[in-house]
Formats: sequence, C-alpha cells, structure tokens
Amino acid sequence: MKRLTMKFGGTSVGSPEALEKVVGIVSREIAQGNQVAVVVSAMSGVTDMLLKSVKAAIAGDKWGYKSLSNDIRDKHEDAIHQHIAPSERRNAVLSDIHTMLQHQQELCEAINILEEATPRISDAVVSLGERMSARMVAAILEERGIRSLAFDAGLFVVTNAQYQNAEPLWDITEQRIREKLTPVLEAGITPVITGFIGATPDGSVTTLGRGGSDFSGAIFAANLDSDELIIWTDVDGVMTTDPRVDKRARVLPYVSYAEVGELAFYGAKVLHPKTVQPIINKAIPMRVRNTFNPDHPGTLIGAEMETDPNIIKAVTSIRSVSMLTVSGKGMLGVPGIAGRTFLATAKAGASILMISQSSSEQSFCFTIPDDKAPQVKHAVESELAAEIARQDVDSVDVWQDIIIITVVGAGMRHRPGVAGRVFTTLGNHQVNVLAIAQGSSECSISFVIAEKDMALAVRCLHDLALETFNGKA
Ligand code: ADP
Ligand code: ASP
Ligand code: MG
Repeated sequence: MKRLTMKFGGTSVGSPEALEKVVGIVSREIAQGNQVAVVVSAMSGVTDMLLKSVKAAIAGDKWGYKSLSNDIRDKHEDAIHQHIAPSERRNAVLSDIHTMLQHQQELCEAINILEEATPRISDAVVSLGERMSARMVAAILEERGIRSLAFDAGLFVVTNAQYQNAEPLWDITEQRIREKLTPVLEAGITPVITGFIGATPDGSVTTLGRGGSDFSGAIFAANLDSDELIIWTDVDGVMTTDPRVDKRARVLPYVSYAEVGELAFYGAKVLHPKTVQPIINKAIPMRVRNTFNPDHPGTLIGAEMETDPNIIKAVTSIRSVSMLTVSGKGMLGVPGIAGRTFLATAKAGASILMISQSSSEQSFCFTIPDDKAPQVKHAVESELAAEIARQDVDSVDVWQDIIIITVVGAGMRHRPGVAGRVFTTLGNHQVNVLAIAQGSSECSISFVIAEKDMALAVRCLHDLALETFNGKA
C-alpha cells in the first residue's frame, strides 16, 4: 500500500472532460489499494474571475461582479450536472456553490461601499475558487463510489497574517495535519483539500500566492508522510523550456530539487517556487504528470544531482521585471551602500530576483518586479540621499522592459566553460547581455537582456538544452 498526495491544477479540474480524467486517475490508485489525498486548484480561470470581481467592486461596477459571479456559477453547475445525477448529493453540492457565491457577492458589496479592498478581504473572495472546486470534486468522487470528503485547508495550514502571500507556521501545521487529516486517510476516505489557501491562528482565510496550490500539495505530502507527491497538470512534465515559448520543448525524465527550484524561481510556471521546500528534507519524490495523458510517466524530481557533462538542461525566462542600477565613482570601497539599498528595497515590499556587481565596484544592479520599480527607486534614493548629495552616488536608474533568462543544469558547478558557451551563443546571435549573475545553488546562470531579444535568446539557448537532451536520448 502506498500513500500518495495528488495535486490537480486549474485545467485538470477545469472542465467536465478533465474531471473525468481526474476520477480515472484517483480510482486507479484506490483500486490498487493505495491511499490518496487530493489537493485541488480552483477551476481554470476562476481565480482570475474572482480577482476581477474584486476590482469591479472597487470601481463600483455592480453589474461586473454580479455577472462574473454568474459565469463562475455556470462553470461549476455545468460540471456538476454532467457528473452527478439528480439527487440529494447533487442538490447539496449545488447549494454549497450557491452559498459560496452569495458570500462572494456580499464581500463585493462591502468592497463596493468602502471603495477599496484590503488584502484580507481580497483573500476571502479569491479563496472561494478552491473552496468550490474541492466540494465539487469530492461530490463527483463520491458519485463514482469513492468515499470522499472535502476540506478547507485553513483547518490544517496555519499561516502568518501576510495576506496574499502567507507563510505557513510549520509546527502547528504539521500537528494539525497529523492529528486531523491522517486519520481520515486511515479510515479509507479520500480527502479533497483546497490548495492555495490557509488561515491565520484565529481562523481568517489567507492565500499562499498565485500558483500556490503546488506548494499546498507539498505541505500535505510532507506532513502526511506520503510516498510520493504527484503534481497533475496540463503538460507531460517539466520541459527543457516553456512549450508556449518554443514548441520544440522536450520532457525531462529527471530533475533534482535544486534544479527545479531554480527553474520555478526564474519563471517556469509549471511549479510554484516554494513547492520543493516542504519535501526536500524528507526526500519525498515528486512527479509532474499530465492529467490528459496519464500513461506518460512525467518528470521525476528527487534529491540526486545528475552531474551531466553536457550541463545545460533547461531555459526559463521572466517578463515584467525592471533593473535598477546604482552607480557612482565615490562608491568604490565605501562599505554598506549595497546593504542599505537592499534593505530599502525590502522595506518597499519588493523581492529581488537577481543581483550583479561590476568588478570596479562603481555600480551594481538588481532586478525587481516591474510594478514595484517606482516605489523602490524612491526608497533607494531617500536612503542614499546623503551619498547622492555628496555625489558619491551619481544616480539610481531604472531600466524597464527587460527580461531575465536563466539556464539551469546541475553539472555547472564543477564545470568551467559553461558561461562561456552560453555567452558565445548569445553573442553569435547578436543578443546584448545587460547583467549577469550565477545562482547560489551553482546550478543556474541568470542574465538580463532587453525584452525584444527574448524569443531569440530563449531559442538559441534552448538549442544547447536540446543538444544535452538528444545526447542522452
Ligand atoms: P496548473 O494549472 O496545472 O497549475 P500551470 O498553468 O500553473 O498549471 O502550469 C503549467 C504550464 O506551465 C504549462 O502549460 C506550460 O505552459 C508552463 N510552463 C512554463 N515553463 C515550463 C517548463 N519548463 N516545463 C513545463 N511547463 C512549463
Ligand atoms: N488558483 C490559484 C491561482 O490561480 C492557485 C493555483 O492554481 O495554484 O493562482
Ligand atoms: Mg500552477
């Protein structure tokens, strides 16, 4: 008997056809005597629609949030009607969905009156997507003869009060999962738990950040002592690059936790960047698999680092970033300027994606999300006001419309010449590199280029990853 945690993403629960696949995947495991904990995302598009409804409410657009509510209702009703025969069960789940959407409208009314939405109230609205889909999926599994119960993750995942990007409080979360959820599995019931959400110690709903259901899956896998975490999504696995950017992308049979951590941090949407955190110490194997192609083995993710001599395994990119450069001849040898700059950036609420310093110490640059650039520039200029007045620091410049590209591969750390290969390739294609940094895990190199060069840069570096792939195939 194995104990599995399976997370199904938005597309995997996003249509009646997809839900049929989910039933097939879960029942196959149950039939083999395995225990399955299911973690679900909201139906695809629903989180965005709920966020839109919050925006409509702020803008006073009552019709907007009501019509979004109706669209969300139709999406769930359609799936429920197709999968559950008219019965008490169907009525009960439909009534749950209606209650949740009633709640959404009430919250939107409150937002409408206040003309603003706090992160807390926004989380209360947005969390409804997962709360609806968990109830729907549990009812569908029950209809198909699998004993199942829906749970709100707030019962187990206790977080701090950093709404929209909450951090789990690990000890109490572990205790709750062990005490309250393990017995459910042991009783032969398949729990269907909301991904993406948690709750503060006093019970107010939080969310873990966009795409956070993968992280939820890992939190449950770790604390249920699962034999495997399976992330079911809409592609065959982790690929050599985003298949939407380059169709030639191939599925990697294996990547290490460290590599996948870098890929996710630097933009590979297939996994949330925090996914490996909870499972890495317990070395729980993870797989990324395709709900729509369940016979494909997918990508296995584990602790072992393959130090492949061909090195470059995958390429990712992040859009919507800005680069700030702090420069000045007077900075040479003056300690603390970088430290103060980064602290000011953190206080302005921006997380730094990449840092690079020129060897002359006359400038350094770092990248942050686009939307934070004006606040960060202002915060850094205030922090360095004295140095700017003395002209030790000449300027704090913002460069918009840039892209971070990252190449990943475990073998890089022991292998000279990788950076050379990367930058020669870029040079051969006339891609101008604006800044460079090597990841601390030493299995990635990131650099900044202008947005217009993105497609070309990804393609030519992807050629290197495909060479690696084909060398092994
Ligand atoms: P889910 O709703 O299942 O969580 P997401 O849309 O969040 O799915 O993530 C899956 C998507 O990630 C894929 O459809 C693919 O376009 C994108 N993606 C980006 N980079 C990669 C990569 N390196 N490998 C696989 N998929 C990737
Ligand atoms: N539904 C949430 C989102 O769209 C979480 C997730 O899908 O992982 O961001
Ligand atoms: Mg996702």
